Order: sequence, then C-alpha cells, then structure tokens
Amino acid sequence: MNGSIKVPTSGQTQLVDITSEVQTAVSDCKINEGFVIVYVAHTTAGITINENADPSVKSDILMHLDEMVPQSGKFRHAEGNSPAHIKASLMGSSATVFIAEGRLCLGTWQGIYFCEFDGPRSRKVWLKIIEG
Ligand code: ZN
Repeated sequence: MNGSIKVPTSGQTQLVDITSEVQTAVSDCKINEGFVIVYVAHTTAGITINENADPSVKSDILMHLDEMVPQSGKFRHAEGNSPAHIKASLMGSSATVFIAEGRLCLGTWQGIYFCEFDGPRSRKVWLKIIEG
C-alpha cells in the first residue's frame, strides 16, 4: 500500500518528528507484520531515525551539521542551496522500519524525523507499507 504525509516546515533547517503520522498510516492498513519504507523525493530534505525524548539531540544534530557544512562555504551550485543538498545526502532519503503486531518496531527513544534543510516549505513524505 502506498501513502503519503504532508509536512509543512517553518524553519530553514528543522527536524520534524513524523513518527505518529507514520504509525497512523500503518494502523490504517490493518496489517500485523511487515515493514514501511519512509521516503522523500526531495533533494534538500532527508529522513533519519534518532532520539525523540531529549529535544537537545535534535538541536545538536542541526548545529553540528551546520558546522560540517557551513552556509558560507565555497560552492559552485548557483542556486545558493548547496549546504541543503549536502546535508540531505548526509541524512539519506529513506528509512525502513519493521512492523510487528501492527506497531512500528522502534526503540524506546527512537523517532522518525523528516529533515528540512531548505525551508520553510510544504513537503511530502512517501510511505510504502508492505505486509509479510
Ligand atoms: Zn539547489
């Protein structure tokens, strides 16, 4: 089953917890066992799984990505958003999560994040939910 989630972002860079939206889509499918692929078809956004308990982790990730890929760096891409493209590649464009007993198999502290690097924008996350 295919699905999608709309993700409006409010900052230039932002991690948005989409775990509950993904779980809702999985629950709507009424499958017991399988997996879901969470995918973004964007070149300046990504998907990652990380801690969703302490919000400092989110801000540390964004701060250190900024240090790794500074906005003021030397880039050839004329559009001016090279840092966003590079950060998107560092995060990756998808995550796969197992489903057991109708629930996402995430660790106690894990959440699924949409990673915005060139916002604010209205974004879309694709879901492919497979039973098995
Ligand atoms: Zn660009």
